[in-house]
Amino acid sequence: MPTDATYDLIIVGGGPGGLTAGIYAMRAALKTVLIEKSAYGGQISLSGEVENYPGFEHISGYELCEKLQKHAESYGIEMIQTEAVAIDPGMDIHSVRLEDGRTLQSHAIILASGGNPRKLGIPGENEYYGRGVSYCAVCDGFFFRNKTVAVIGGGDSACEEGLYLSKLAKKVYLVHRRDALRASRILQQRVQNDCHIEILWNKIPVEVEGGDAGLRAIRLKDTQTGETSELAVDGMFVFVGFSPNNALVPAGVRMTPEGHVITDEKCETAIPGLFVVGDLRQKYARQIVIAAGEGCTAALAAAHFVENKKARLADSCELSE
Ligand code: NAP
Repeated sequence: MPTDATYDLIIVGGGPGGLTAGIYAMRAALKTVLIEKSAYGGQISLSGEVENYPGFEHISGYELCEKLQKHAESYGIEMIQTEAVAIDPGMDIHSVRLEDGRTLQSHAIILASGGNPRKLGIPGENEYYGRGVSYCAVCDGFFFRNKTVAVIGGGDSACEEGLYLSKLAKKVYLVHRRDALRASRILQQRVQNDCHIEILWNKIPVEVEGGDAGLRAIRLKDTQTGETSELAVDGMFVFVGFSPNNALVPAGVRMTPEGHVITDEKCETAIPGLFVVGDLRQKYARQIVIAAGEGCTAALAAAHFVENKKARLADSCELSE
């Protein structure tokens, strides 16, 4: 396969895991390139406020992304904005194929491709996407100033984004399928104390209704009684979890039934030199600080891996001379 460039390390994904890996890789003097297909910062670029990244009591998702990107750039890391379309592991060297037709090679790869918001999969959801249905409060909340919206989900994302929307919208319905929220206690308390938010317990949306002007209502089903009802809203924001972006995971790498990659404590997969960090990696909790920590672990382990590999290659050259 013709190669356009060879590196010590290729990082795929520019979220907190990938960018932190970039910082540590550059400090370890690895020749590194980071590939990101869209905005640096990953999912946090879509977050309103971040309040649990140590050292920052309050910081906007956008500002934290910018800081992480600038920190990585300060070490002179090469960054390419395009999509990685395939990872081809090799015995001697790994390859990453890019959408623009180039193929890059490296001794080690850190895959930090994160995840995408999960959809509900109900009638009307795709039809009204961008016309009332959204998966990003920071991106689209502005269009719902003084309007009525529904937020679907009961986790940290639904509560955080519901609180963000309550500052813009006239009324926010938080629609949750059970009678208890999954979110952290502090977010639960804030949601329950917010006079603009009303929680609709034991309800799931079953259909999005609207017309030429966009979304008009959502049909809800009571998970206890099975009864359905109509909730008139101008917008529906869906936060029902993430699906890991595992399309690039090569054959031979173990995954959970949900599609998260199983690694060892160094974040290394069953393929030597292939590491996985962040939301794609199977773990107990998904937090920005954990993704960053994994980026650090993987980069340190990758540096060790590359050093050993180069030493072995040098030894075998000497023996064959
Ligand atoms: P999550 O924790 O998986 O919560 C998803 C929520 O959506 C749950 O309440 C779930 O209900 C509900 N749900 C799932 N499928 C549904 C469906 N088909 N219909 C209706 N409701 C459905 O996802 P998340 O809130 O996006 O968070 C993902 C991870 O990121 C978590 O580990 C979270 O702690 C972390 N996170 C942290 C922060 C923070 O610390 N500031 C912010 C955002 C996210 P059930 O509860 O009944 O399962």
